Amino acid sequence: MSQVPNDRPLEVACPQCRQTVRWTEDNPYRPFCSKRCRLLDLGAWADESHRIAGEPAMDETDIDALLARAERDGDGG
Ligand SMILES: [Zn+2]
Repeated sequence: MSQVPNDRPLEVACPQCRQTVRWTEDNPYRPFCSKRCRLLDLGAWADESHRIAGEPAMDETDIDALLARAERDGDGG
């Protein structure tokens, strides 16, 4: 008689937050612990490819506007 150790599911660490995740069919987001972590991971990839596309992060006019606003706000004390 051999018994299958079925009562102890495989456990993995969530690639996003390192939380222990049970690798079961119950968890559609495995190896992630939750939908949030899965989306975060996918988002990181999307973000990365966006950066490779080479869009400027900030325009010079944006920096001017930010500086003008910072000057106004900074006087508050
Ligand atoms: Zn997680």
